[in-house]
Amino acid sequence: MRFLSALGARLRPVLDVVFPPRCVYCGRLGSWLCDACQHETQPVGDSICIRCGNPLTLRGLCQHCRQDPPEPLRGIRGVFFYNGPIAQGIRSLKYHNVRPLAPILARYLVGYIQERPLAFAGLVPVPLHPEKLAARGFNQSELLAAEVSKKLTIPLRSDLVQRIRYTRPQAQLNRHQRLQNVADAFAPVDGVRLHGETLLLIDDVATTGATLRACGRALRQAGAGDIWALTVARAHVNTVLPVDSAGLTAAEAFLLWDSHRKQSTFDPPPSHI
Ligand SMILES: [Zn+2]
Ligand SMILES: [Zn+2]
Repeated sequence: MRFLSALGARLRPVLDVVFPPRCVYCGRLGSWLCDACQHETQPVGDSICIRCGNPLTLRGLCQHCRQDPPEPLRGIRGVFFYNGPIAQGIRSLKYHNVRPLAPILARYLVGYIQERPLAFAGLVPVPLHPEKLAARGFNQSELLAAEVSKKLTIPLRSDLVQRIRYTRPQAQLNRHQRLQNVADAFAPVDGVRLHGETLLLIDDVATTGATLRACGRALRQAGAGDIWALTVARAHVNTVLPVDSAGLTAAEAFLLWDSHRKQSTFDPPPSHI
């Protein structure tokens, strides 16, 4: 495998000439996610709930987190809303094996961390179940975390938690079912002992944050201190952006989304496993 990937890296310039990169969203030649499409992305911004990271009109604590904060996580953050070019970029990386998108998407994670400095002792990609990993051939969260680790020289800690239970796709489940579905899906790797380290979980996309919380519980069990989570995108449960949302701010559009709960037909929430 190592030989093949080394060969792939050496062949890349040749392949780029024969099959030049094409934007996965608009089809323009030149890069996997063109500048125009990257410009169209919708950042979540800082008017959010300080715990779950969902947008609010003012930064604070949302109604939901007053009753059920996303323990044991200190906070969940997403750089973009899960729609348009970002959603397509994530799907192409994950389901169509367009791995050069990993460094492109990871750049946004790097920027986000640099702007909000917190000292992390390690970056923890959300692990896939071994069967899933075998089927896909790679863990997209690990590719992202590895890029961030390289850029920010924060250790990559893929050796702390493991996925011990194969879970149903989260996409068709409501918030409560999602929590149940992933409860106990993760466990610390045998023999891992942490000593209060501050860690950052990395994933491609979060919806309710149930997966991140379950993974965080395994880290806490192993002895982690503060645990934060950062994803490239933030999706919403079973929602679709209404057509009349043009001109709204990102936060307003998201809140409107919330009030228009319906089965998505255009940008389905990710299965996220
Ligand atoms: Zn494009
Ligand atoms: Zn909240």
